Amino acid sequence: MSRNQRQRGSRRVPRPFRCRRCGLDIPAEAPGTAHRNHCPSCLWSRHLDDATPGDRAADCGAAMEPIAVSVRGDGEWVLVHRCSGCGELDLNRIAGDDNPLLLTRLAVRPLAQPPFPLDLLARL
Ligand SMILES: [Zn+2]
Ligand SMILES: [Zn+2]
Repeated sequence: MSRNQRQRGSRRVPRPFRCRRCGLDIPAEAPGTAHRNHCPSCLWSRHLDDATPGDRAADCGAAMEPIAVSVRGDGEWVLVHRCSGCGELDLNRIAGDDNPLLLTRLAVRPLAQPPFPLDLLARL
């Protein structure tokens, strides 16, 4: 049995964890998602999964910074995490108790720091 198979078997038992970023004790149950993989308070994550959410197959383990929000076709918000160790990007569904203020700040960040004057749009 490969290492991956063994780890896949354990993914159905989500365990509570402590956020390494802000120290919050995080319950495993998350409203709106079966697999919580980031802190609902500061939104930081850890690079544990490889290809599949919950597979715990990554050897990295470094902190993953929430850098952006994306929206899927069905309107669901997705967090974009970037690993501070290896630079990998990851997409993660948001949970119902994720910090709405931080999510909104991520969502409006590009508009708050436009790469061109916004009044340019009026002249297009
Ligand atoms: Zn946190
Ligand atoms: Zn990494």
